[in-house]
Amino acid sequence: ERKSVNENYFGAYGSFGIHREMISDKVRMNAYRGAILNNPSLLIGATVLDVGCGTGILSLFAAQARASRVIAVEASDKMAAVATQIAKDNGLLWDGSPSIQNKQCTGAVNVVQCMVEELDKFIQIQPHSVDVLVSEWMGYCLLYESMLSSVLFARDRWLKPGGAILPDTATIFVAGFGRGGTSIPFWENVYGFNMSCIGKEVVEDAAQLAIVDVVDSCDIVTNAVAVQNFDLATMKHDEMDFTASFELEPKLDSPVNHSSDMQSQTTRCYGVVLWFETGFTSRFCKEMQTVLSTSPYTPKTHWSQTILTFREPIIIASGEPNVDGLAVVGTDTCPASRIHSRISIVRAVLHRSIDISLETTAI
Ligand code: SAH
Repeated sequence: ERKSVNENYFGAYGSFGIHREMISDKVRMNAYRGAILNNPSLLIGATVLDVGCGTGILSLFAAQARASRVIAVEASDKMAAVATQIAKDNGLLWDGSPSIQNKQCTGAVNVVQCMVEELDKFIQIQPHSVDVLVSEWMGYCLLYESMLSSVLFARDRWLKPGGAILPDTATIFVAGFGRGGTSIPFWENVYGFNMSCIGKEVVEDAAQLAIVDVVDSCDIVTNAVAVQNFDLATMKHDEMDFTASFELEPKLDSPVNHSSDMQSQTTRCYGVVLWFETGFTSRFCKEMQTVLSTSPYTPKTHWSQTILTFREPIIIASGEPNVDGLAVVGTDTCPASRIHSRISIVRAVLHRSIDISLETTAI
């Protein structure tokens, strides 16, 4: 029997392993918990909509922060049942009447099992009646299998004009990685045997395919630049499909470069690594702002990073930025025609699938 994509998607969220992984991600949890618990002027007495509540953890934080009502929407029937039980077991399940605001941890959590798009078919809710929308919707590379379109739908339908969305910004970053970011070094010495032919094949297979993996910051050989910024409070649905081009400059002080191409001041870039940050900014979080970062430079998260490998490594060279802001290329040892300093991404990320093509431009 064939299942629809949606059945598979929500079926996967019904397995507790995923929720355990998300709840064990301290970086993720600290960001959301901090934003919800440390911004009393936003949360106290508020009507909160938790889009995709899963276990209900964010709704429980919101109830703890003394929101007066938390509508916790979850499409997976299994998770909605579990979230209801959990809210009940913790004395936080909504009984139909607005909670008393001066009592701590009142029963504010109203779990609703449905697609958030159909919320008004399941409970009585006025359009534009929610003060705060909270959701953890981010996928790999921000937008992979993303529920962002559901979140934007909920924002447009249920959030009050000027209402808060947590988080309210998102940015995708990119940087180039060196040899260590590939599996080449791993296969070069296996108990003393050279298996580098596997490493080469793996790199060839990985070309133009996105891979989710952890990249060590010391394997990054360029600066990092923001590929795309999203303002979640105002962005339109079609902004999820975007084209971005960016320029990366070699970072010749990195340990990788010192050990390899120190003399020539060039380095090989084997591909790009993408990651994202989401911000809980002062726009809505007056008392405490937070950034949730999935960068290779900060403690790792369950999102890891996303890697795109070039078919052939690109030699990049150091130098003074020229008038266009590009790194100047051309050294004694590398013919300029083989050296790239600009990498552009064409037709970047689509929601629910990673569809990125890299086009490298030589100068
Ligand atoms: N908020 C929880 C779970 C995040 S995972 C936490 O932070 O731990 C995202 C959840 O959203 C999944 O449980 C998934 O089933 C649910 N979901 C995704 N799209 C949805 C939609 N359109 N309507 C309702 N729930 C949705």
